[in-house]
Amino acid sequence: MLPFHVPDIDEAEIGAVNDVLRSGWLTTGSRTQQFEEAFRQFVGSRHAIAVNSCTAALHLALEAIGVREGDEVIVPTMTFAATAEVVTYLRARPVFVDCEPDTLNMAPAAVRAAVTPRTKAIVPVHFAGLPCDLDALSAIARQYGLRLIEDAAHALPARWHGRTIGAIGDVTCFSFYATKTITTGEGGMITTDADGLAQRMRLMSLHGISRDGWKRYAANGSWRYEILDAGFKYNLTDIASAIGLEQLHKAERFRQARQRIADTYDHGLGDLDAIDLPARRDADVHAWHLYVVQLRLEGLRIGRDAFIEELRREGVGTSVHFIPLHMQPHYRSTFGYAADDFPVAHAAFDRIVSLPIYSKMTAADAAHVVGAVRRVVTANRRTVAKAARAAAVAARAAEVA
Ligand SMILES: *Cc1c(COP(=O)(O)O)cnc(C)c1O
Repeated sequence: MLPFHVPDIDEAEIGAVNDVLRSGWLTTGSRTQQFEEAFRQFVGSRHAIAVNSCTAALHLALEAIGVREGDEVIVPTMTFAATAEVVTYLRARPVFVDCEPDTLNMAPAAVRAAVTPRTKAIVPVHFAGLPCDLDALSAIARQYGLRLIEDAAHALPARWHGRTIGAIGDVTCFSFYATKTITTGEGGMITTDADGLAQRMRLMSLHGISRDGWKRYAANGSWRYEILDAGFKYNLTDIASAIGLEQLHKAERFRQARQRIADTYDHGLGDLDAIDLPARRDADVHAWHLYVVQLRLEGLRIGRDAFIEELRREGVGTSVHFIPLHMQPHYRSTFGYAADDFPVAHAAFDRIVSLPIYSKMTAADAAHVVGAVRRVVTANRRTVAKAARAAAVAARAAEVA
């Protein structure tokens, strides 16, 4: 069985963690400072703040830009729980928007239509690692005086029109969750060029205390500290940062490995009528965190769920990204959303399957996936003739009725 994901960890990470464990300093300290500095340089931002998840990063970003009770924040419905739930932490309202049918990124026209006088920010997700149209989204943000907070959980490393994701929006939030493009087990990073926002997010990431704990306990530190606000407990440990530093060195190599798998899939599956391949734009750098195909259900005798089951029988682990948030019980009951409120995301949900894509996969693994998908499609193809006959039967039945 080929798992859907396996993290790429080797002796370098294990040795780095050992060093931290032997050092006597486990929590936020010099390794975290090094990780922040390396990350800041990697994306080309003025500031990088390490936190213990991307969820924490998004929460801190929205808090820092001043999202408060009664405000609205525009988020895609085609995303993970975190993107919207952080808005509700601040008693503000997540306003969902539909996606583009090919990229599954939030549609700029839908964003513009969702702006109200209460809107404070737009939170685009670079779905699967393909950057959103940041020119269009920045123009909307500028026009209405909104902040652009990027959920870049899928987008390390990625580039939009030659610019690195992490140095474009007001604040960018990254994830180092176990399945993401680099991992620290759990972890996240915030990048920004704005000194004031960086200062606020750093303060609130550790209890609103005016100095870093590690400075407090360092040889030249002092025991004295001041609590300036009621903050959060979102700091990253040196154990995690030691892993992160090693992973960051390999981030571009990992990306190239995923790119090769995406190329193998594109070449191996491109001729199948029953499958739409994920969008790509050769001018931009795609992080290829996910490889999401969309089934053309009219060309198949089976639905998405059965397709996944048949791939599992072929020894291929898959997943679905995502069940649109507006279809989830909590958001339906709290905000009154209905399944067909966002027809593009709704229709896409019935058709999407994420194939495995990670640097530990071999060329043989990728070829195995291609073979398995081809066998499942071939065994379940609905022929055009059969489909036409079925349509004719239905038309006759309608006439009779
Ligand atoms: C994984 C993910 C997150 C959350 O990341 P954590 O580090 O687990 O908090 C947020 N947004 C998207 C789109 C994600 O895929």
